Amino acid sequence: MEITFFGSSSRELENRHSVSFLVEDTYSNLLIDCGPGLMSGIFKANKKVNDINNILLTHVHGDHISSFAYFVWYRNIENFGNMSQNDLFVYGKKDVLDLAKYNVEHMYPEIKWTFEIHYCELDDKSIFECDTLKVEVFNSIHTVPCLGCVIESADKKIVYSGDTLPNDFLLEYAKDADLLIHDTMLMKRDFSLAKKTMHTISEDVGKIANKAGAKVLALVHIEPQIFGKENEMILEIRKKYNGIIMIPTEGTVYSI
Ligand SMILES: [Zn+2]
Ligand SMILES: [Zn+2]
Repeated sequence: MEITFFGSSSRELENRHSVSFLVEDTYSNLLIDCGPGLMSGIFKANKKVNDINNILLTHVHGDHISSFAYFVWYRNIENFGNMSQNDLFVYGKKDVLDLAKYNVEHMYPEIKWTFEIHYCELDDKSIFECDTLKVEVFNSIHTVPCLGCVIESADKKIVYSGDTLPNDFLLEYAKDADLLIHDTMLMKRDFSLAKKTMHTISEDVGKIANKAGAKVLALVHIEPQIFGKENEMILEIRKKYNGIIMIPTEGTVYSI
C-alpha cells in the first residue's frame, strides 16, 4: 500500500492543510476525510481528483468535511462529458453522510452528475471492501460521533485513530499495525486543552503505539504551535515508544 498525505495539521495555514490522506494499492484507493485544503493538497501531490473512487468521512467537523461537496463538483467537471466515469462511494456514520448529502444537493442542485454517488452508512463496527482494500471502522472518543479505521491489503495493515482522546478500544484494532496514524494534537504541557477538545497528547500516543506494537507511528492533527518544535514532541513520545516515528507533511508519500 501507498499512503499520500494531503494534510497533517489541525488547522489550515498558508502552507499546511487539515488531516487528509489517500491510501492506494494496485487496484483501489480510499480517501480519508475532506478538510478545507483538500483540493490544494491533491494538486500538490500530483494526484487526480478523478482517480479517487472511495471516501471515508470520519466525522462532521469542518476540518474533516468542508471540502466534500466541492470535491464532488470538481470530480464531475474534471471529467465533463465522460459518462463512463467510475461511481463514487462515500462511507461514514449517518450524521456525517446526511450533512455530506445535504451539502451536495443544496450547493449544486442544477448539476446532472456524470457518475453515481453512493452513500454507504456505517455503524461502529462495520467492515467494507473497496476492491482489494479491506476497511474496518471503530468508534473514537471525540466531541461528536467519530470513527477510526483499519485498512488492510495483502498482509499489510494501516490504522488511523480518528480525532480522539486516548482510546484503549483502538488497541484491539491497532495490534501489530505496520503503520499507526494517530491524532497527536499537543504535548503534555497542554494536556487540559487537548482534553477539552478531545484530542490526544504526544505522551499518550507513545503509550498507545508501544502497547499496540506498531512498527511505524505517523503523527497527524498537530497544532500549529508545535511546528518548529517537532523534536520536543518526538522526545515525549520516545520515552514510551521505540519504533519509527514520522511527521508527514503535505505531499509525503509512504509505502508499506
Ligand atoms: Zn474533530
Ligand atoms: Zn479534526
